[in-house]
Amino acid sequence: MSKYDYLVVGSGLFGAVFAHEANVRGKKVLVIDKRNHIAGNVYTEKIENINVHIYGAHIFHTNLKRVWDYVNQFAVFNRFTNSPVANYHGELYSLPFNMYTFNKMWGVVTPEEAAAKIEEQKHAANISEPKNLEEQAISLVGTDIYEKLIKGYTEKQWGRACSELPAFIIKRLPVRLTFDNNYFNALYQGIPVGGYTQMVANMLEGIEVRLGVDYLEDKDELDAVADKVVYTGPIDAYFGYQLGNLEYRSVCFENEVLDTPNFQGNAAVNYTDRETPWTRIIEHKWFEFGKDKDGNDLPKTVISREYSSEWQPGDEPYYPVNDEKNGRLYAEYKKLADAEVNVIFGGRLGEYKYYDMDAVIDSALNLADKEL
Ligand code: FAD
Ligand code: UDP
Repeated sequence: MSKYDYLVVGSGLFGAVFAHEANVRGKKVLVIDKRNHIAGNVYTEKIENINVHIYGAHIFHTNLKRVWDYVNQFAVFNRFTNSPVANYHGELYSLPFNMYTFNKMWGVVTPEEAAAKIEEQKHAANISEPKNLEEQAISLVGTDIYEKLIKGYTEKQWGRACSELPAFIIKRLPVRLTFDNNYFNALYQGIPVGGYTQMVANMLEGIEVRLGVDYLEDKDELDAVADKVVYTGPIDAYFGYQLGNLEYRSVCFENEVLDTPNFQGNAAVNYTDRETPWTRIIEHKWFEFGKDKDGNDLPKTVISREYSSEWQPGDEPYYPVNDEKNGRLYAEYKKLADAEVNVIFGGRLGEYKYYDMDAVIDSALNLADKEL
């Protein structure tokens, strides 16, 4: 007889949601994580009384009412709305591209004037069917915005020329002929008050969690303690990279505590010129309006400069690379995974898929419905 019904490998959102659901349905669950903290990549840590998003800024946004109701059981969400500012050599523009951006760029006042300006620049560039990101961007917003707000940022972020990148990357960015700086189109948006770590701790309440335990180092012993395993680590690592490494795009974060109450006046500022080496700066306190839990102003601030970097084996895996080569390799690993008895692969690493937080929670809830 195994001691646990489920061994959940990974205490990120996928693992925590599944573990919570199994626990409330009376299953015995053990959660392990190789890191020394829970919450996976949504982990926040208090520095100078500010909840710092250690693995990159996370803004919760969703259209899924079920997921929104679900997370609200574990945290109170504030009214934070993501409205990044673009800094091009010291000129500031509103994002995503909307009437404030067009007014600042061209002095246009009406939506009609903005649309005409975009059309004029698109026509001058002579693009009918956009074949790459450069052409797609110019047809969406014109040459001036492409040159100042897209070209440099995208080339830093992806390490490739815009003319060599697929058009679809830019299509998810909203373009609006209204005065609306909300970056997302989602119905629900916010940041959990007190940080994501506390929200995940609430999900894991009453469940045994062991930190600093690498499943793959003690696989046989750990497999023996549970009837089934839910594995949310990298799928290629599980199989000892026997078919080769899946590739990722990585990000480096340089954190700094500053002895000033307000560095940039916004949570996110994108540096869209090619010359500034970082892609953006996050000032974490503005996710919670610059206040501590008692509503007091915070005297200091914490900022993170983000640098996009080429991923090397051994680096932290961030974004899966959705190209044909990696897609094919993943499909081969998936066949091995399907043949594995009593192991379920889930989450962004287990499925090698870019999942927003709401999608990963939805996926874990679907698994729980099916499995439990
Ligand atoms: P993870 O959080 O990665 O959890 C996996 C866990 O498994 C980790 O804790 C890891 O330590 C553990 N693990 C791995 N291998 C082992 C092993 N062998 N043994 C034990 N433990 C192991 N989504 C949004 O909705 N909004 C955003 O603003 C947003 N911003 C993002 C910014 C960045 C830079 C990135 C990379 C992602 C962002 N996301 C955002 C996506 C979000 O991070 C994911 O949806 C979510 O974290 C995925 O959860 P997960 O449980 O699948 O994976
Ligand atoms: N983008 C840009 N300038 C910006 C913000 C985004 O050119 O200031 C482009 C860039 O190519 C990016 C894409 O729009 O990859 C999608 O932006 P999003 O913020 O969704 O992407 P992420 O930063 O999460 O990759």
